[in-house]
Amino acid sequence: MDSRVIDYFRDLVGPDGIVTRANSLSVYECDGYTLEKAVPEIVVLPRSTEEVAAVVKFLHSKNIAFVPRGAGTGLSGGCLPVEAPVMIGTSRLNRIVHLDLLNRYVVAQAGVVNLWVSNAVKNQGFQYAPDPSSQQACTIGGNVAENSGGPHTLKYGVTTNHVLGLEVVLPDGEVVNLGGAVEDVPGYDLRGITIGAEGTFGIVTQATLRLTRQPQAYRTFLAVFESVHEATQTVSDIIAAGIVPAALEMMDNLIIQAVEAAFRFGFPTDAGAVLIVELDGLAAGLDPQTTKIMQVCQQNHAREVRVARDDAERMALWKSRKRAFGAVGRLAPNYCTQDGVVPRTKVPEILRVITGVAEKYHLRIANVFHAGDGNIHPILLYDERNTDETERVVKAGQEILKACVDLGGSLTGEHGIGVEKMGQMPLIFSPEDLLVMSQVRSVFNPDNLCNPHKIIPTPHGCIDVRIPKRQAPL
Ligand SMILES: Cc1cc2nc3c(=O)[nH]c(=O)nc-3n(C[C@H](O)[C@H](O)[C@H](O)COP(=O)(O)OP(=O)(O)OC[C@H]3O[C@@H](n4cnc5c(N)ncnc54)[C@H](O)[C@@H]3O)c2cc1C
Repeated sequence: MDSRVIDYFRDLVGPDGIVTRANSLSVYECDGYTLEKAVPEIVVLPRSTEEVAAVVKFLHSKNIAFVPRGAGTGLSGGCLPVEAPVMIGTSRLNRIVHLDLLNRYVVAQAGVVNLWVSNAVKNQGFQYAPDPSSQQACTIGGNVAENSGGPHTLKYGVTTNHVLGLEVVLPDGEVVNLGGAVEDVPGYDLRGITIGAEGTFGIVTQATLRLTRQPQAYRTFLAVFESVHEATQTVSDIIAAGIVPAALEMMDNLIIQAVEAAFRFGFPTDAGAVLIVELDGLAAGLDPQTTKIMQVCQQNHAREVRVARDDAERMALWKSRKRAFGAVGRLAPNYCTQDGVVPRTKVPEILRVITGVAEKYHLRIANVFHAGDGNIHPILLYDERNTDETERVVKAGQEILKACVDLGGSLTGEHGIGVEKMGQMPLIFSPEDLLVMSQVRSVFNPDNLCNPHKIIPTPHGCIDVRIPKRQAPL
């Protein structure tokens, strides 16, 4: 990197706001998708919207590409710096700017960690509903970029349902506000289209988030099954019975073993699968649903259904579930978390496909996922030192995603396309669809300087929409 560029950023954000040493930069070489790596030439850590705008304006004037990064917990390589020498990290944009409990919203800077928002309001009886399992680390900016979900988004909806407004620094450095603190802003929903754009429309600097009342009561169960099939059939049957639990999560035997070894919750390590089912709402309404869910579990030969006796037990159960990915480190040196989605009734079928793929490619695949959403997360275990095994992991992941599409589902339930799934976009989109998407992107990001080579597949990562009628080369 040109030393004048480094000097400029050092003056702008201070010496503690830039990272240039090779061993420190290696921290930023990937996110949670570790199959591809690329090191930025410099990481810049602004502290305010004004500093972000100044950084971006400078980069725009020099035609230098950049990539936004939150906590780097993404699972599709979204913040991988591909031909983007500068990474703009949001870790110092970490303030809750404004809290308005009467109007039920909070304004948080992009680098605020998801869980901090709920922690800031829990004593007043409120919560921020989207709760990715990574919520102890991931940031609001990353959640907005990925339109993240979580265990409780089955009932409450994903990030886009809880973001009222956004402040965004566009790729030329202009600061714009999309949406606002009130419901339903007139005109085109530019807030909506920015959520889930995976950081390709600009850098979100702060978000106005809707707060939700904490439920009055919970019923949380652990249902134990001999087989994955019985557990997934139970998921389908609960939904078919007209019940939408707050959360409905599945863990298979491999995950149970890893989680039990890590957290000693008391999971039965010989079970084929367990379901975590949570109901919430007014206490009076929960008993009839509890009875129905017990019946459905019994019909599907549940070996046992344990009800969390108190809040401590409930929290311990959720801690085990939310840290399940971390526990997978006990099973293999590396793993790749896939993310697909199928209609809920197809969950048993996609699990059979996953078992078949594991056998075909001689791989171990663990499963922990938001079963109620039909959002699967097969975790493919491997050792990156074994190149043959690594290649099989890539092929197996692609085959599972293709099966999701064939079953009427899609390529991602919540982790985004990033670099990982770009090549599979043509499975669900035509060249014309992709061209329209790139034209929309170019309204926000005409020079493709912000997070290039993401989402839309082309040989060069970018369709130049300034050339009229050019077909998307696939
Ligand atoms: C253990 C574990 C569990 C997970 N569980 C879930 C889950 O339950 N549900 C779920 O949806 N995801 C889950 N994820 C995936 C991940 O945590 C989410 O995608 C999360 O929203 C990423 O946030 P981040 O701050 O780490 O973003 P990063 O990984 O840093 O970035 C993700 C994307 O957002 C962009 N970006 C980041 N900040 C900004 C910004 N301020 N403005 C514009 N673009 C930005 C980046 O360029 C990149 O494209 C999990 C990941 C892990 C490791």
